[in-house]
Amino acid sequence: MLKGKNALVTGSTSGIGLGIACALAAKGCNIMLNGFGDPGAIERIRCELAEVNGVTVAYSCADMARPDDIAGLVEQTGQLLGGVDILVNNAGIQHTAPVEEFPPERWDAIIAINLSSAFHTINHALPLMRKSGWGRIINTASVHGLVASVNKAAYVTAKHGLVGLTKVVALETAGTGITCNAICPGWVRTKLVEPQIVARAKSLGVAIEEGGRSMLAEKQPSRQFVTVEQLGEVVLFLCSPAASQITGVALPVDGGWTAQ
Ligand code: NAD
Repeated sequence: MLKGKNALVTGSTSGIGLGIACALAAKGCNIMLNGFGDPGAIERIRCELAEVNGVTVAYSCADMARPDDIAGLVEQTGQLLGGVDILVNNAGIQHTAPVEEFPPERWDAIIAINLSSAFHTINHALPLMRKSGWGRIINTASVHGLVASVNKAAYVTAKHGLVGLTKVVALETAGTGITCNAICPGWVRTKLVEPQIVARAKSLGVAIEEGGRSMLAEKQPSRQFVTVEQLGEVVLFLCSPAASQITGVALPVDGGWTAQ
């Protein structure tokens, strides 16, 4: 079903993006990886994904804070893979501080990477999807695209904006074979969340694992972290024919966080 489709997944050198890239590659998609990290480790991931799944896997270190880099990334994906059928806007960063202490440069970076980058990728990739008459745009938003938490002014603003962008693109592409949806994960144990777990453990004077349990107890009724594998499967579903009439939704995958 997805065999031979070309997928660009931003922020896919670790965490959720890598989980999504692995799930798509396992179904036969060619993949453009993107993100930062140790070059040797990224090259090992690239080779393994390609070898295990028999697909083409390319990598770009394009900085999602830079519109010119993003234009180049979409163009390079089209050239190396042959098109962009699936676009997963996943790159993201976090900074936590009360709003009156929030560093303006962190605000700008979070808005650029977590929100504006999705506008720029869609702006460049949508014409390619329209040409082929099929496309899937999946934006990694967050429960913080639906509800707020303290000390996350930039992140909550960016993710709410991303949900808004998702709805507009869904309306503008309705009936064309292209869908645009957001996934809204609760806590997933990745590099982005690890500093928050450490900070919680420190503030409570407990072990790291207990810090994680405390964060889950506060927000996520299942008291279990969402896994990157589960999110990969959710993306596969949104790419499937069963989901072809699902567009413009912001789908919580949050163990009940936003049901409260
Ligand atoms: P992560 O830190 O493991 O992954 C972030 C990815 O983005 C990495 O590949 C990183 O290299 C890349 N990245 C960061 N800045 C970039 C830039 N300027 N240009 C290109 N790539 C860049 O964290 P994660 O938790 O997997 O986060 C992925 C997405 O999931 C983010 O958008 C995040 O907001 C969202 N999310 C995470 C959680 C969670 O609990 N972990 C929950 C909801 C949503």
